[in-house]
Amino acid sequence: MKELAQIASAIQPSSTMAMDALAKKMKAEGVDVIGFGAGEPDHDTPDHIKAAAQRAIAENVTRYTPASGTLALKEAICRRMEEDCGLDYAPGQVVVTSGAKHCVYIALRALVDPGDEVILPAPFWVSYLELIRMAGARPVVVAAQESTQFKITAEQLAAAITPRTKALILNDPCNPTGMVYGREELAAIARVCVERDIYIISDEIYCNLMYDGARSTSVAALGEDVKARAILINGVSKSYAMTGWRIGYLLSSERIAGVMANYLSHSTGSPSSISQAASVAALTGPQDCVEEMRRTFEERRDYIVGRVNAMDGVSCLKPQGAFYIMMNIEKQLGRTICGEAIGSSDDFSRALLKHGLVATVPGSGMGAPGFVRWSYAVGMDDIRRGMDRLEAFLKG
Ligand code: PMP
Ligand code: GLU
Repeated sequence: MKELAQIASAIQPSSTMAMDALAKKMKAEGVDVIGFGAGEPDHDTPDHIKAAAQRAIAENVTRYTPASGTLALKEAICRRMEEDCGLDYAPGQVVVTSGAKHCVYIALRALVDPGDEVILPAPFWVSYLELIRMAGARPVVVAAQESTQFKITAEQLAAAITPRTKALILNDPCNPTGMVYGREELAAIARVCVERDIYIISDEIYCNLMYDGARSTSVAALGEDVKARAILINGVSKSYAMTGWRIGYLLSSERIAGVMANYLSHSTGSPSSISQAASVAALTGPQDCVEEMRRTFEERRDYIVGRVNAMDGVSCLKPQGAFYIMMNIEKQLGRTICGEAIGSSDDFSRALLKHGLVATVPGSGMGAPGFVRWSYAVGMDDIRRGMDRLEAFLKG
């Protein structure tokens, strides 16, 4: 038989999804595994959002919608952007997709041709690398170190740009590091993008999950010239505990939005009409649920950071946003733990799952080989038990 497509055959599975599936399978088999793998809020979707979906079904809002989303949802997104970020977008600049992951793909599809380069700061969320490749482009990874809080500088960015560079992917607050760029740092990076004429795909899905009273800055708020070349990505998955509803959205110039909408009209068609109705309720309804969930994440962050840094041989920075820590395991490399040789973050995660019954994601797939990612979107009791298990494992 003929070969399968080269691009598709080269795609690696998502390590976050794979670890989550493995932990859920073990749990279903009766193993007492604690899952810190997938970044997925453990809260239930708030009741008023669920009620809106039930109403939509009862009222037969069960047909195709426009491919890029309903006008009601686009208007709700514009109002939220105005209220939360002071940003002025019109419904014609909004594109709704089946989840923020698909937003990244659609944005790349709108911008890149085969052979184009896309700059990706590391550590990065696993899917970006593969999504760039899936769009036929070449990822150019720019590494940030823990000593610079996992943030790249404007100089590093400028040095990575070539005539083939089309776009930079920014993710702020960042999955997996939890770090957040200050306004000045972000402005310096955005200036380079404007001067060198590259687009910015800015994934701001964790913008509501900020700690210590800080607020994140959208790149689009840095000036009209930045906004013109920015494609913002956001969604309801994280802020409203709606990961299974599959609604994400993009904000950009009308021209880019039109290209993305055309692409969608031939690929997924419209996102779920029911999920869109629920998302209108999420974005226009009471917002105290967002703050309540944020507060629980902040408590968990303080606890997990305190526990990790009190253990010998591992450490982590204190994240300012999102719900992940990157645990530095460099001192564990070369050790044997519970009879397992630890030569990489994959070995560490595998051994911790097997002997400690704790699921984490190795940093190897995130451009951070000496680190292991923990999501703290997990109940406090499980975090306590997970930390106890880590402590025992490290002594093994
Ligand atoms: N961007 C980032 C940075 C994420 O962490 C996630 C979570 N998977 C997504 C996008 C995708 O979100 P969604 O569940 O809406 O596809
Ligand atoms: N964003 C989450 C994570 O990074 C969900 C899983 C995924 O889509 O990758 O774990």
